[in-house]
Amino acid sequence: MQKIKGSGLFLFDMDGTLYLGNRLFDFTNELLATIKACGGKYMFMTNNSSKSVADYIKKLKALGVESVYDDFITSSQATAYYLKKHHLGATLYVCGTESLKEEIRSHGFRVSESLEEIDVIVMGFDTELTFKKLEDVSKLLLTRKDIPYIATNPDYVCPTEFGSVPDCGSVCDMLYNVSGRRPVVVGKPEALMPQLAMEKTGYSRDDTLVIGDRIYTDIKSGIGAGTITALVLSGETTRDILEKSTDKPDFVLESARELIEIIRGQE
Ligand SMILES: [Mg+2]
Repeated sequence: MQKIKGSGLFLFDMDGTLYLGNRLFDFTNELLATIKACGGKYMFMTNNSSKSVADYIKKLKALGVESVYDDFITSSQATAYYLKKHHLGATLYVCGTESLKEEIRSHGFRVSESLEEIDVIVMGFDTELTFKKLEDVSKLLLTRKDIPYIATNPDYVCPTEFGSVPDCGSVCDMLYNVSGRRPVVVGKPEALMPQLAMEKTGYSRDDTLVIGDRIYTDIKSGIGAGTITALVLSGETTRDILEKSTDKPDFVLESARELIEIIRGQE
């Protein structure tokens, strides 16, 4: 089995791994400081494309964690990266929040609502969704059969304090009922976010650890990218779910707290 190296790259899922809802785990700051002290690097990886990195920096600050722009890999950034690689210079229809549009524009893309000039459709977790946007995307999908169609993340629901609200995957299902088309998906469980993080930082797969509380998103993205993976049982996954899953992480930890000892043990 591969080894967790304290000097490596740690790609953390956030909710369920470093905090739960609005409660920061008591070990999180110590863990992050330990990684830094041992010469390692960490990044926060999120599928949520409704919030900008600036929003996340604020959210973490409110929880008591200091962070900067380069500490994050979001599905919005990964989508912009995917677009640069496959659709450079394209004009985009973005069914997403102003934050997502801003992120994509910052990578040099033009975002438009004039359907006749659209080259690619981008779906996000759109907390500013309107019927007009659904109508526009339906029209594009039905009248332009081969138009590239991309989604930031496949999640069906996003957790809230009262339960959940429909996320990007649910809206894409509505559009599937209209068009019979499924988008190319960028976020977890796809491998693109960990791949992008390694490319940005220069770490190899053997020196990269993906840590998360969901097997079917976090762990799967790490397996796909060929990194080391660690499942934490501090969030959604129980031992029962783990036993039934066909995807197996390299390490299973009660919580990410255990990483502190593992990293220190190597000093
Ligand atoms: Mg999570």
